[in-house]
Amino acid sequence: MEKLLINLEKNSYEIYIEEGTVSQLSNYIGRPQETVLITDENVEKLYGKSLNALLKGRKIHRIVLPPGESTKTLGMAEKILVDMLEYGLTRNSLVIALGGGVVGDIAGFCASIYMRGIPYIQVPTTLLAQVDSSVGGKTGVNMPGGKNTVGSFYQPLSVVIDTGVLKTLPKRELINGIGEVIKYGIIYDDDFLTYIDENFDDILGLEEKVIKKVIKRCCDIKASIVAKDEKEQGIRKILNFGHTIGHALETLGNYEKYTHGEAVLIGMYYEALMAKKIGLIDDFYFQKITKVIKKTDVSLNMKKFTIKDLVYAMEKDKKNKEDKISFIFPVGGGKAEEKLLSREDFHILYQIIGGGDKNEHSQ
Ligand code: ADP
Ligand code: ZN
Repeated sequence: MEKLLINLEKNSYEIYIEEGTVSQLSNYIGRPQETVLITDENVEKLYGKSLNALLKGRKIHRIVLPPGESTKTLGMAEKILVDMLEYGLTRNSLVIALGGGVVGDIAGFCASIYMRGIPYIQVPTTLLAQVDSSVGGKTGVNMPGGKNTVGSFYQPLSVVIDTGVLKTLPKRELINGIGEVIKYGIIYDDDFLTYIDENFDDILGLEEKVIKKVIKRCCDIKASIVAKDEKEQGIRKILNFGHTIGHALETLGNYEKYTHGEAVLIGMYYEALMAKKIGLIDDFYFQKITKVIKKTDVSLNMKKFTIKDLVYAMEKDKKNKEDKISFIFPVGGGKAEEKLLSREDFHILYQIIGGGDKNEHSQ
């Protein structure tokens, strides 16, 4: 059993990482008066039955959501809250979020606002959720105008990670998580980046020792960044490497063309290329980064989008300041820094992606 303490003073909590934790869930949840388990239909199909047996004898209500990002709405949150009220949950009750990032985000959000906050435990079942969204306490839902526009910072009671459940994940979902894994190496730990490169096949093959080590290191890195800056006032921003271009691509692809991880992988590639053009990293380091990114086999060609499309989408980013767009660039040796670029600075992007046809799909 790997254990990790997330040190956030009175909001501190532990992350447990081990194969088989889902089938031992009752060991991790204590004995609250009432519990509601929130999950989605796919996860329920795969793991619901074993949970039935396991949680027998407890007062556990179940809310099963339709899978997918379209579930993360205020309307759905309201339905969940109404159910919670009907079940008679109080501040002594417990919410368990069993599923990927979608379930974690909306269940965490509901836990954070129900009676001004009740305890919840995250049991992330996708690689992306295990290495990223379940750590750090960001919860929320989407609005028609943007992703995660309504939400809260709310820390769980604990995070229980079962590496075994990754075996049922489709490969595309694994790559979705690996995007963030590579990101941690680039922004925080060059030796980890080397490790990812050298063990890439074992990571993808979910070799138990390797995947456990990788998940632990990712949670550790995210935790130390979050501990320094819980509300994203400073250093936490480095977690957005690859995300400025990545989020723009997700928007342009209507959140259908790319998974989050694919968009971030492409974003990291082009943002690293920009960092090289600006002179922040040398070609040797650039090659090291891109060698790992290319191992994912994600297509890096984004010529179909024009620079105008990209800039338009990037200007909507909530991390921007005044007229400038916030970029996180690698600076070498496992470090990254924020730079604010103005519209005039975008000639670097023009050079990189060829500018596209400026009249095509312009807004
Ligand atoms: P994220 O990738 O942000 O964690 P989701 O919560 O949308 O996103 O999960 C992605 C998809 O994978 C959903 O369709 C979900 O039902 C499914 N899923 C989640 N966990 C597992 C699992 N362990 N095995 C198979 N499918 C899973
Ligand atoms: Zn991300």
